[in-house]
Amino acid sequence: MTNEYNNVSVLIVGAGPAGLSAAITLKKQQPELNVVVIDKAANPGNHNLSGAVLDPKAIANLMDPIDPDWKESDDAKGVLILKIDKDDVLFLLSNKFSFNIHFAIKLAKLFGLGFGQLSHGGDTICSLSKLTAWLNKVAVSLGVEVLYGFAAEDIIWDAEEHLATGVKLVDQGLDKEGHQEVNYLAGEMIKAKAILLSEGCDGLLSEKFIQKAGLRRQGAQLYSIGVKELIKVNDTQYTKFSKGRVVHAMGYPIWTPVFGPGMFGGGIMYPMGNNHIAVGMIVGLDYKYCDFNPQDALTRFKEHAFVKPFIEGGIVTEAGAKMIPEGGFYAIPRHESGSIGRSNVLLLGDSAGFVNMCKIKGLHNAIESGIAAADAIDGNLERPLSLARIYTRRLEERGVLNDMESAKNFRQTVAKFGNLIGMPLSVLGKWLPKFKIELDYEAMTTAKYRLKPPVKFDKDTFTAVAATEHREEQPCHLLIGDEKICKETCLKKFGAPCITFCPAGVYESIAGQPKAANPSNCLHCKTCQRKCPFDNIRWTVPEPTGGPRYKTM
Ligand code: SF4
Ligand code: SF4
Repeated sequence: MTNEYNNVSVLIVGAGPAGLSAAITLKKQQPELNVVVIDKAANPGNHNLSGAVLDPKAIANLMDPIDPDWKESDDAKGVLILKIDKDDVLFLLSNKFSFNIHFAIKLAKLFGLGFGQLSHGGDTICSLSKLTAWLNKVAVSLGVEVLYGFAAEDIIWDAEEHLATGVKLVDQGLDKEGHQEVNYLAGEMIKAKAILLSEGCDGLLSEKFIQKAGLRRQGAQLYSIGVKELIKVNDTQYTKFSKGRVVHAMGYPIWTPVFGPGMFGGGIMYPMGNNHIAVGMIVGLDYKYCDFNPQDALTRFKEHAFVKPFIEGGIVTEAGAKMIPEGGFYAIPRHESGSIGRSNVLLLGDSAGFVNMCKIKGLHNAIESGIAAADAIDGNLERPLSLARIYTRRLEERGVLNDMESAKNFRQTVAKFGNLIGMPLSVLGKWLPKFKIELDYEAMTTAKYRLKPPVKFDKDTFTAVAATEHREEQPCHLLIGDEKICKETCLKKFGAPCITFCPAGVYESIAGQPKAANPSNCLHCKTCQRKCPFDNIRWTVPEPTGGPRYKTM
């Protein structure tokens, strides 16, 4: 890194949709401003995965001021794959039966009830990796420095001045024991006047900053894990599924109303162009089954009588996993003044938890929060103590907080009362009181998941198509706090759930001792950090460029 990057005006950590939207808007507003974006991935979009369904208003709000003809560009056409014209919401009763409840969703929308927001007609299907790569191209064309392969491990917070001064990058060239190798490179400091944290869900710097700057959440942050595969199918299957159709499914195999498992979440199916169908399973991490693996639920979903005919015989060309912040409005970290961030540090997108759980979408809010951050900085960079306050006002003006508030009790109600009672009760939405809920890892019990597929899920192939890799000779970035707890308590009581739930097979029992044995397989989903029943795992940042290499996820 050259010295010109060591002292910047605005430093954005995370080149996802929120961070790049901020960079693009800032550079458009103030071309002379020194705006630098850093990202730990090797290439644009490599660490970005989502469904993804995008509210087109958000991308128009971002791109219209940049280029009024942006929709006609080949890049935009390649990214915004299809407009949704058929929007199915299925309730899967068993492995065979399903019925479409979209009429109920439409009715709920008509009456302004919370889950009516699940209706996606008019939205656009896109690949988040491709969207991010395109936004990177736009940002670079405007003069933003976007630096890939730059991983930050800490934010430098001056508690006396109530200001952040910069971020520290990860050291490189340590061996497995932490000794310096010949190519050792100490992580540099990047100083900045304003720091935008847009790292995605459960961001390392964001969570450190929340602690250091004394931000608080009014309610617990809940997470879900999404596992997704991109499947190449034949012409007939793709045509039969139909181009502009999206399917959201609830019920089997993670929730059956009477005796079956009771988990929050469901399956998704989206057409992704070029005969590809994205198939995924999202499961709330407040599940209680100690032997549950979300990939088993994905397998069952793919075998369902509705899904199977569309994908049978298809080839999985890409796969991946990520967490989604689901706590909603009450889980947004705020300073006591109400600001989302503090002084010159702003929390954007998933780092702030801007996912509307009634819509199951956060991409629109990620983009809008990026624009709001840029608007806040415009003309105010020399007032660093006021930036977070101004940013929060801009978020209100842009409708982000209103959107979050409209879904504010949905996930808490289901977490508190379960699917059967919680779902119907959630129609009362924001009129319900705030419920106290437990953290995801506290929900684990010794109960067993009854619908495991007969064949063990092939995690090796899953990680191979996610193209994940890390330099092998570096310290393990997954830190287990107390190995005694693993062996003497967790293994006996729960059977070491990390071995089962990690989608990449990172954890293994070696001579009866659970260990993070294969850290180079890690997909950076951070599930282990939130679901280990003893809160005994810390995910730290590995050397930059490590991790998955998503292209169309
Ligand atoms: Fe159990 Fe957590 Fe240890 Fe894994 S790391 S064995 S989940 S205590
Ligand atoms: Fe996800 Fe943790 Fe497994 Fe990495 S080790 S893939 S962060 S669960």
